[in-house]
Amino acid sequence: MPSSNHRFDTAISSLKKEKLRITEPRKALLQLLVEVSKPLSAEELHENLGSDHFDLVTVYRNLEAFENAGIANRIPTESGKSLYELNAEQHHYHHIICRKCHHTEKLDSCEVMKLETLAKDLGYSEITHVLELYGVCENCR
Ligand SMILES: [Zn+2]
Ligand SMILES: [Zn+2]
Repeated sequence: MPSSNHRFDTAISSLKKEKLRITEPRKALLQLLVEVSKPLSAEELHENLGSDHFDLVTVYRNLEAFENAGIANRIPTESGKSLYELNAEQHHYHHIICRKCHHTEKLDSCEVMKLETLAKDLGYSEITHVLELYGVCENCR
C-alpha cells in the first residue's frame, strides 16, 4: 500500500502534468482526499476542510478539475449527489454503496468490459461506462 505522502506527491505531479495550477485550495483538497479512506460528497469535503477561505463552489470547481484530470473519481449516487475519491489506482473497478450510511466498498471486478468489447466490435470508440451498485450494509441492517 503506497504511503499517503506518496499518494499526495503522485496527485501533485498529475496536476502538473495536466497543467493545472497548484493553488492552496487544490493542495488542501488533495491532502484531504489522500487522508480520507472513503468517498465523500463535496459538502462533506467542504465541511472537513473546515476553513473559511474555501467556499463550496471552489470545492466543486476543483473536484471537477480533478475529475477531468483523472485525479479523482466521481461516483454518482441514487440521491443525485456525487461522491468523490482519489483515483489512486489506474485500475478499473466499481463500488457498492450503502443507501443509508454511504459506506462504500470496492468491487474489484468488472463484467461490463465484455459489453465494451461488443460495442467496440460494432465500431464504437472512446467507450466508457458508469455502473454503481446500491444496497444496505451489514451495520445498517
Ligand atoms: Zn450502511
Ligand atoms: Zn466497469
